[in-house]
Amino acid sequence: MDTFVTGNALDLEDFHWLMDILQSLDVGLVVLDKSYNIQLWNGFMENYSGIHGVAINNHNIFETFPDLPQSWLKHKVEDAIVLQGPVFNSWEQKPFLFKFTAARPFTGLSSIMYQNITIMPLRSIHGTISHVCIIIYDVTESATNQLGLQDANEKLRALSITDGLTQLYNRAYWQECLVQEYNRFKRKSINVTLMMMDIDFFKKVNDTYGHPAGDEVLRTLSKILKSQLRATDVAGRYGGEEFAVILLDSDIEKSIMVAERVRKAVEAHTVYYEDLVIKFTLSVGLCQLTSSIESAQDWLVNTDNCLYYSKEHGRNQVTAYGINNK
Ligand code: GH3
Ligand code: MG
Ligand code: MG
Repeated sequence: MDTFVTGNALDLEDFHWLMDILQSLDVGLVVLDKSYNIQLWNGFMENYSGIHGVAINNHNIFETFPDLPQSWLKHKVEDAIVLQGPVFNSWEQKPFLFKFTAARPFTGLSSIMYQNITIMPLRSIHGTISHVCIIIYDVTESATNQLGLQDANEKLRALSITDGLTQLYNRAYWQECLVQEYNRFKRKSINVTLMMMDIDFFKKVNDTYGHPAGDEVLRTLSKILKSQLRATDVAGRYGGEEFAVILLDSDIEKSIMVAERVRKAVEAHTVYYEDLVIKFTLSVGLCQLTSSIESAQDWLVNTDNCLYYSKEHGRNQVTAYGINNK
């Protein structure tokens, strides 16, 4: 020990126990010379790669492991040499360097071993950098926990903005989108039209066929909407049997065509639920946003008035603000 601390050359015995420690450390240690030939491959690396150190001693690492990200690793090694100090890489930047499988103690599942990496230049006794050491930390447990948490958060977020029955946006989130689109229009005039729909005599559907059948009608309408609208249109369930869509990049003429297409698709559709056969229709209101509309709320009121006009004038029809509501 003294010889090591005072910096004198190690005797063979010291070297032996030092190697024992390196071999049994629970982190991966790889030492490369400047030509990327393997000089040290500890027990951790042997266990996870299934390759014994003796078998690859002095072999080029990229020839031995062709899947390694060669240019990435060379770049990092050069950084460490230029900086004359360690370079770190977390699993979040690059999940792993060596593709190992890690057993996960709590779940019993196995997964790719997530790795944090340190690349450290090593000086020879002459003070020049002659080798680099790659240290590999198995961080699978904390990485998978973190990924699980992120995944759960994303699912929660999706749940919090989605209507459970129809899988469209719920009212609260849809209204946020409405205000956002209104504000976007204020900054940059765009063609954007609001479409509101209400199922005709839906109470009668419930009364005649039962509430579960009514639910099926709501799900069906949501499917029809998804098939008739573009991915950029923002569709939400506004209330019980009321739906609302922000038609982006769509002036009133184009929106009338979209609304008619939806209305006709609904009219032509038959819902088969258990042994029931159900037909239903839709009333629609449309209003294109213009600079004279002073708030998102006013835009909504104009559109709702058109929907009401459709209801009052026989249902199963489309009314467009400023076009056919007078
Ligand atoms: P109108 O043509 O004037 O719109 O008549 P309507 O019967 O559709 O309108 P009304 O507002 O009288 O009835 C709406 C019905 O929608 C009443 C309510 O029970 C039903 N409803 C609301 N939410 C749900 C739901 O989630 N599932 C089912 N099955 N019914 C619902
Ligand atoms: Mg209604
Ligand atoms: Mg209704």
